[in-house]
Amino acid sequence: MLIENYNKVRANIDKACESVGRDPSEVTLIAVSKTKPLSDIEELIKDGVEDFGENKPQELKEKYENVSKPVRFHQIGHLQTNKVKYIIDKAVLIHSVDSVHLAEVIEKEAAKRDMIADVLIEVNYAGEESKFGISGSDTEQLVRDISTFPHIHIRGLMTIAPFVDDPEENRPIFRGMKELLLDIKSKNIHNVDMEFLSMGMTNDYEVAVQEGATLVRVGTAIFGERNYNI
Ligand SMILES: *Cc1c(COP(=O)(O)O)cnc(C)c1O
Repeated sequence: MLIENYNKVRANIDKACESVGRDPSEVTLIAVSKTKPLSDIEELIKDGVEDFGENKPQELKEKYENVSKPVRFHQIGHLQTNKVKYIIDKAVLIHSVDSVHLAEVIEKEAAKRDMIADVLIEVNYAGEESKFGISGSDTEQLVRDISTFPHIHIRGLMTIAPFVDDPEENRPIFRGMKELLLDIKSKNIHNVDMEFLSMGMTNDYEVAVQEGATLVRVGTAIFGERNYNI
């Protein structure tokens, strides 16, 4: 039963919060349903789950349009400019903005629909070659550049930490992300809120929560292994 997996993850998040004196209500668990059938989402909706994460814009769009009850879909994966139109008015939050070029397209599509797009800036904190995201040192400038777009509201930062055997290895990255968030917050940049910190996945979400995550994106621990070949 998926809800049992979900509840187990939720309980671990609550425990991680308590271990560092955080209020568990500060942390939202996003069930990452990418590649999984709509029936899995429906099963969790039935039990009251409201936040889901998708990687592919077309998949988000299709699930958004076919789900039996409105829920919140997060665009967590890399977003190509030509796919923005699929999710701009469907994703509650775009976690993966990492360039002015992408922001320009989001701005244009949001303006067309007379809406404001909520986004996070994706930071490649560890500087991994294979990952999308802006470097930690360039993040503030990117935030400043995008903050001038009237139809975009920056709400915080997101990172995908390296895949490691021991989640403790990622603790310095999560801690650094929190410091970066607080540093940018202290600059009081107009039209920028540094309220959300999206970090932590199946392998490392408890450490991420201890270091200040407010949005955790967990797929495998809830839905099981993904099969990309189907
Ligand atoms: C797939 C994915 C996740 C979830 O990963 P799991 O290891 O299955 O929990 C989280 N964030 C992003 C951006 C992803 O692409």
